[in-house]
Parts: sequence; C-alpha cells; structure tokens
Amino acid sequence: PLSKLSDVGTTIFSQMTQLAQEHEAINLSQGFPDFMPDSALLDHVHYFITKGFNQYAPMGGMLGLKEEIARKIEDSHKAVYHPDSEITVTAGGTQAIFTAIAALVKKDDEVIIFEPAYDCYEPIVELFGGIIKRFEMRAPDYEIDWNAVKGLVTDKTRMIIINNPNNPAGRILNENDLQALINIVKGTSILILSDEVYENIVFDGKTHLSISKYPELKERSLMVASFGKLFHVTGWKTGYCAAPKNLMDEFRKVHQFNVFSVNTPMQLALAEYMKNPEHYLHLNSFFQEKRDFLRQGLSGTSFELLDCEGTYFQAVRYSRISDQNDLDFAKELTANHKVATVPFSSFYKNRLNEHVIRLCFAKKQETLERALEHLSKL
Ligand code: GLN
Repeated sequence: PLSKLSDVGTTIFSQMTQLAQEHEAINLSQGFPDFMPDSALLDHVHYFITKGFNQYAPMGGMLGLKEEIARKIEDSHKAVYHPDSEITVTAGGTQAIFTAIAALVKKDDEVIIFEPAYDCYEPIVELFGGIIKRFEMRAPDYEIDWNAVKGLVTDKTRMIIINNPNNPAGRILNENDLQALINIVKGTSILILSDEVYENIVFDGKTHLSISKYPELKERSLMVASFGKLFHVTGWKTGYCAAPKNLMDEFRKVHQFNVFSVNTPMQLALAEYMKNPEHYLHLNSFFQEKRDFLRQGLSGTSFELLDCEGTYFQAVRYSRISDQNDLDFAKELTANHKVATVPFSSFYKNRLNEHVIRLCFAKKQETLERALEHLSKL
C-alpha cells in the first residue's frame, strides 16, 4: 500500500479552523491566541534581525536561550539540566514530540497513552512501527485508574506518554498520580515522554507537577515545552525538549537530520525576553480571568461546564441541548451558531462520544463576549 498512515486524515484543528473561516464563525477551535504578543518581545526580534543574526543557529539551539531554559526549569522545579548537552530548542512542541518518538521507539515497541490524547501521539508512534496501548479517561472527571494502567505494562512497553496539563480535558496530574507513575516504572527501562506545553497555565493556586521534579522520573524522561503557549506566539513554532544526556544524545541524532536547527533571531529574542520571569509567571492569572469569564457566561446556558484546572481549553457537555454526536454537533454549532469548537471524540481512537466539546479561551475579551452571545441562544 502507498500510505504509511492509512487511518489518518487532516487534523481536526485544521478542519475546524477551515470550517470557521467558511462560515465566518468565531474560532474557539484550534488553540491559539487572537491577540498580540508583548511588543517588547517583537522589538527584540527586530533588533536581532537588523543586527545581522540571520544565519543557522547551532544544532541544539542558541546557548543563551538554553541557559534561560535551564534556569527556568531549575527555578520552577528544582531540577538541573545542563544547558548545552541536555536541552534542545525545537520547531515547536510537536516537532519535539515527533523527534523523541522517532529517536526512541522501535518496531513493535509498546507505547502507553492516555485518552483524550493530543492527536499527534498515535500517528507518530505508528509511523515508527510502535504499538499503542491506551487508557481511556472518561467524562466528567477524567480520572486515571493507575491499576488499569499497570495492567497495560508488558515487557515490550518502551514508553509512556503523559500530557500534563492535559489538552483537551484541562486536567492536571496530582501528587498521587505522579507517585503511581513512579511505582509503575520503578525497576523497568520504560521511558517517559512528558508533554508539558501548558505548564505555565494552571489555575486556582494549584501547582504544575513537572516530571523533572521527581528524580526517579527525570532520569528516564524527555520533557517537552512550547514558547508558543508561553508567550502567545504559536506561529513562531518554537519550543524545546529537556532530557538527561543519554536520552538527549539520541534525540539530537534525529533532530540534526530533521530540522537541523531552529530560527536564529527568534531564539535570541526569546532568550532576552525570558530574563524576566514575570513574563511567564503572570500567565496563570492572565488566563484564569479569561477562563472565569467564559465559565461565568456559560453558567447561565444549557451547556454543562466540566472542571478546568489548566490549559486554555474549557470542556463542556451539551447533552441537555442535543443528542447528536459531537462532530456533527460541532459542525452545526459552527454553521448555524457561528462558534467553532473541537469535538472530544477526535481525541479518542474509538471516537468515544460523551457529548463533550472543547472551547479555546485564549481570546480577546471581545471575542469571548461575542461567542457567549451566540452560545447563550442555544
Ligand atoms: N495545540 C493546538 C490545539 O490543541 C493545535 C495545534 C495544531 O493545530 N497543530 O488546538
């Protein structure tokens, strides 16, 4: 057969954004801010471009940026990564995830994922001959039954992929979850790929528990983060991976032949901007205000709000409004009510349909107000 990924079509994010454009609907589907990043960050880019920093960056990234990343991780999680040998700047979170899987998952290796799962994990694993084992988290709480997860582990388990905070469910892992994970991997050679791109968007005074905080996990983990989420620049496609040297060496073997290196002036600008931690530490309250505004507005409607502990996504159940499946419902909402969202079944292999859709609230106040006007008519 021609296709290596015969089950894969166009991502739901591209589909829904396109549908939003066709119907001139408010786009709360694909996760990206509709407001400007800080002009100070943009000024840094201008400075470095005009100063002549326009050629290849070193393969692993600009040292100044890797040093800022190492400092951020140490300040936040008390974990030490060597800037030069244990951090690689990537063209976004997805490229880091792709590269980690490409470098470390071999044919017939088993990889455990948690659904609802961000859509790229499974196809990438499949591309490299790996086999997915899934644990389905269910509405409304999306709890993890760690005994069931333990039951998925075999001597072929190569990797566990976690996504904390979870996109799309907005759930964060707590201390018990992390301890359960530690118990599962103890004494095994299982690797962990930890997608933490929403690490700085956690609400209600709760703490993001990074994999890097736990030495028993850190030694076997690749942690992935994203500047797109951190500084409202998803289109810059910049992020990074941090991992112990033995894992990072393998990661870079692939990275050098995939992107080789990442956009130089953007890296320099990000390094400069990161020097002030306030630039990312304020994100929790910045997005909590938006979350609360959206929740407040929806609380008077027939939509049922699910918990949102982190990320910039709010999950809502619409079973009081319609018994349509979530894809049809999301399409109808876009066409007839002019609000585009993402159906949760896209994040489940067997398209588990619990009548839940995802709304992105990384939007201007005015956008959220207009969306609420439409949604309150349902
Ligand atoms: N991470 C974004 C989301 O969840 C989508 C990014 C993409 O479209 N690839 O909406």
